Amino acid sequence: MSDTDPLTGEPLALDLVNTRPLSEHGRTDLLGTPEQLAAWLAMEPDLHAEVRDAEPIAADVAPVHAVRANVDAVLRALLTGVRPPKAALRGLTDAQRAAPATRELDWDGTAVTATTRRGGRLGVRLAARLAEAAADLLTDPGIKNLRQCEADDCVMLFLPAHPRRRWCSPTRCGNRARVARYYQRHKPVSA
Ligand SMILES: [Zn+2]
Repeated sequence: MSDTDPLTGEPLALDLVNTRPLSEHGRTDLLGTPEQLAAWLAMEPDLHAEVRDAEPIAADVAPVHAVRANVDAVLRALLTGVRPPKAALRGLTDAQRAAPATRELDWDGTAVTATTRRGGRLGVRLAARLAEAAADLLTDPGIKNLRQCEADDCVMLFLPAHPRRRWCSPTRCGNRARVARYYQRHKPVSA
């Protein structure tokens, strides 16, 4: 895994906001193009039912960015203990309303089946699904444990499974921090 790969494995809505890491050139966008969006979708099994066989096009990127900006605004507010922006909360509600989920009933020969489906363009469906994931995350009591990675140059957010977790990823920031501490300790003493 390289530093330019999206970080995954947190709740879906956190994985989404973590697609804008800090690099030496400022914040990069790992969902900047339809191709990048497609690569991220392939890494997120929870979204596969929404994607089905659709290929993202340019118009699908903006609705996903809008949801990401709104989730980010709410999470940063929660991290600093201030009231989340009303517009961000409304945006997440509206994104769901734009492509409501319906449970489509069918018969598979022996039993009734229900498949959750949304209508509309891929970007709008994804935005609705991601906003729903955000609603689950933001209302979960565990959100009070939300943390930002302790590395100086990292803005990744995570929910620690154990209270001592300090890094978004031990292989990224954990290692870099260990190396930095090593050099700090072994700095040549100037005369
Ligand atoms: Zn980090």
